[in-house]
Amino acid sequence: LNGRKPVSRPRVLAVANQKGGVGKTTTAINLGTALAAVGEQVLIIDLDPQGNASTGLGIDRAANIASSYHVLMGDATLEDVVVQSGIPRLACAPSTMDLLGAELELASIDRRTHRLSDAVDATMARAAATGDDRHAYSYILLDCPPSLNLLTINALCAADAVLVPLQCEFFALEGLSQLMRTVERVRTNLNSRLEIQGVILTMFDRRNSLSEQVAQDVREFLGDTVYETMIPRNVRVSEAPSYGKPVLLYDNKCAGSQAYIRLASEIIRRERQLCAA
Ligand code: ADP
Ligand code: MG
Repeated sequence: LNGRKPVSRPRVLAVANQKGGVGKTTTAINLGTALAAVGEQVLIIDLDPQGNASTGLGIDRAANIASSYHVLMGDATLEDVVVQSGIPRLACAPSTMDLLGAELELASIDRRTHRLSDAVDATMARAAATGDDRHAYSYILLDCPPSLNLLTINALCAADAVLVPLQCEFFALEGLSQLMRTVERVRTNLNSRLEIQGVILTMFDRRNSLSEQVAQDVREFLGDTVYETMIPRNVRVSEAPSYGKPVLLYDNKCAGSQAYIRLASEIIRRERQLCAA
């Protein structure tokens, strides 16, 4: 084999919820960091024009950088746009504001729902052919925009599974059925691999009885789909992005960091069960 390692297909997880501010980006960054910390090779693809995943990883979003937009448009490969995050084994395909126009531009081009999926496949094929394992990711996390637009559809078509962050607040379940219907439609028509891997309760506040009640209701309604690990509301989590760091690097002892470490091991466990089944 000339020292070449076989490149297996990465697990591609879309972090999606069409509601904004529920913890998608925070989850992508910190789950990615926790997975990288235990030896996984991780790529986060930022699909939100806001670019919070990119900036939260300390990546300078200069106006002229190559981004996930160029990958979707076929003007660049993933390898062309990927930047290292400064965290070992964690890379990011940043976003730029160009993504704001991508919805319209995608609408009229060939394979508009599979642009990202095709790009991921091409990257993995090149990694396998050249034996160059710099881009041989074991996990790819897709940070989706707060919408069910073509960017999110591209993520769902590229993904093996969806992770759904759900904020522990009164309207938590509102909009979830719409997301589930979209996932179902994508599975039927576009990507038969797709499954809902799990719902992550975020911004849980132990001192707030409403938060507790919502968590209970969601578990009753969705059963095992919900991860045991809940991400607590934690000020350290919200401070970290302004330093361009995952909370796991900013303060690895805080409750938020500890929760993301537990979530990563729960996800790895669930992944193994799914792959064995
Ligand atoms: P989304 O990507 O779904 O829009 P974000 O991950 O950007 O959501 O989170 C929205 C806001 O809430 C951000 O300012 C983020 O720092 C903050 N936040 C996310 N998770 C937590 C948490 N567990 N505790 C405190 N603040 C949080
Ligand atoms: Mg976000």
